[in-house]
Amino acid sequence: MRELETRKAIIDACLWMEATGMAIGTWGNISMRIEDNQMLVTPSKIAYDALQPTDLVVVDLEGNQLEGKRHPTSEMHLHRLLYKHRADVNAIVHCHPVYASAVCASGGGIPPILEEMSQMIGGEIPITERYINAGEHLLLAEETVKALGNKNAVLIRNHAPVCVGRDLEEAKVCCQVTEKAAKCYLALKGGMAIHTIPNSLVQAERERFLTRYGNEH
Ligand SMILES: [Zn+2]
Repeated sequence: MRELETRKAIIDACLWMEATGMAIGTWGNISMRIEDNQMLVTPSKIAYDALQPTDLVVVDLEGNQLEGKRHPTSEMHLHRLLYKHRADVNAIVHCHPVYASAVCASGGGIPPILEEMSQMIGGEIPITERYINAGEHLLLAEETVKALGNKNAVLIRNHAPVCVGRDLEEAKVCCQVTEKAAKCYLALKGGMAIHTIPNSLVQAERERFLTRYGNEH
């Protein structure tokens, strides 16, 4: 098995997400670039406290699974397209913290209000242009990469943030800065417009979760 230390670091980061409220259950996923064209990514649908180094999956940036018996996270396309688009990024944390998720439902991103945002994220935190169900993996990935641009954090509309870094520690700090910025922004702003998910897409996503979740690539 390759990359034992990297695998352990990813598992530690998953446990950190759960312990700090950055994610609940198995929502959220993490990857690290291990070669120019390969990444190590968390598997789909397994509790973080049960994760073993061999559960992580090696996938190339074209989406081919090279190592591992489990399915990679259903958001694997998001990770691989992001690495393709951003040569400077070597780690990606997709978390689901409360305040950033709230801003995801407001329909707008977070303007640059804290100096940490300038330093870590490169300014504002953008948001994807429109809501896309999580089952539309490739489309969601393309929209997210487009919205991220050259920033280190992006909000997926009605979903949650994706944070990136040159290494895993930096991606984790970007998660913390994003959540703090969201908290401050909500405290300052108040009375924000709320952007809801259309009913047909709510039903489609519920149906996917009940019938296919964890069994698809
Ligand atoms: Zn997610």
